[in-house]
Amino acid sequence: MPMATPAAVPSYRGRFAPSPSGPLHAGSLVAALGSYLDARAHHGTWLVRIEDIDPPREIAGAADTILQQLESHGLYWDEPVTWQSQNSPRYLERLQQLQAAGLTYFCTCTRAEIKARGNHYDGFCRNLQHGPHGAAIRLLNLQPIQQFHDRWHGNVQLAPELANEDFVLRRRDQLWAYQLAVVADDYASGITDIVRGEDLLHASGWQLTLWQIFSQLDQGGSLPRLAHLPLILGEDGRKLSKQNHATPIIAANAAENLHMASKALGLKLPHPSEYDSLQAYLQIAVHAWQGKYA
Ligand SMILES: [Zn+2]
Repeated sequence: MPMATPAAVPSYRGRFAPSPSGPLHAGSLVAALGSYLDARAHHGTWLVRIEDIDPPREIAGAADTILQQLESHGLYWDEPVTWQSQNSPRYLERLQQLQAAGLTYFCTCTRAEIKARGNHYDGFCRNLQHGPHGAAIRLLNLQPIQQFHDRWHGNVQLAPELANEDFVLRRRDQLWAYQLAVVADDYASGITDIVRGEDLLHASGWQLTLWQIFSQLDQGGSLPRLAHLPLILGEDGRKLSKQNHATPIIAANAAENLHMASKALGLKLPHPSEYDSLQAYLQIAVHAWQGKYA
């Protein structure tokens, strides 16, 4: 009797996907380092994607700065950097696929109107047959994912009104919505593992929902594994972010910055001054990550 062929296990592909709304700070370094270590610990491929689809929030030169910061911290990627601003044809194709499947509708509600009706979009325009003029395009969310496993947080249960929301795919200003772009790109890049900051934990329900729909339409792929890493809080207790002008990390402090980020990720490593190079330190960090999380 012939032996059953084992199902192919897709090899690990991870990514770091910053938006160029400012340089990397201590908090974004934690996300970058965590996704890098996880990819290396799995002998996987680590990609970098610049999420530049929201021009009003972008700062000129920030993308180049981010790439330089990654390099100066020894975080080298494995394939050419990709840019979301170049992927519009992909997003349009995915949108048209969803439209053809009857899974979208036009919504003309303003932010104020939505807010006046509740915290979450209530599907107001689902059956109103609006035309495209001045309208956002929303997903007709018929199979919402309400719970999922996260490697860091365990079982995550979402509030139904959040998970069930008909989220936006293309904004009223005609810019692509983050959810569509992220999922279309991760799916196309064959990402198996998403490791990022926990500010995106709750958006994962929507993203897995979209990923599941793409898989069904394509008759392919399994859902990615997720790990949402802790955020670094500033002295005011708020999340460090580009919007509240967190201090950019600089190359001169690379060893110290990496050490702080390792600590934030729960790794207890000797101080980088005990190693000859950043690469040597990072190698030890990969081993520590392997032992603890991989
Ligand atoms: Zn509406």
